[in-house]
Amino acid sequence: MMNDFNNKSFLVNQFLWIGVSLAISLAISIIVPFPYSLPIIIGVFILLSFYMRQRTMRRLGMSGATMFGNNTVNYYCMNCGQKHNQLACPRCGSKMKRVGT
Ligand SMILES: [Zn+2]
Repeated sequence: MMNDFNNKSFLVNQFLWIGVSLAISLAISIIVPFPYSLPIIIGVFILLSFYMRQRTMRRLGMSGATMFGNNTVNYYCMNCGQKHNQLACPRCGSKMKRVGT
């Protein structure tokens, strides 16, 4: 339930930011004539997305870290296909691994 709520507010936040950046780019294109407004708009978009990512990362904080931690990544031996998380395959001793889910 809590997770669902967080996802929804995250989506709302995303849409809010898209709206804000659209409004800013519109305002710039009105104030500044077209060919010159383009690099300014792109710059604003880059700055906004950078700021947004910083904010989101800070907001997620530990939950983001645990999310990545819980994300199961399995390694499979490239030689025999044995699933293992060790340096060398316990079945055949090969150190060649591939990542699977
Ligand atoms: Zn193996």
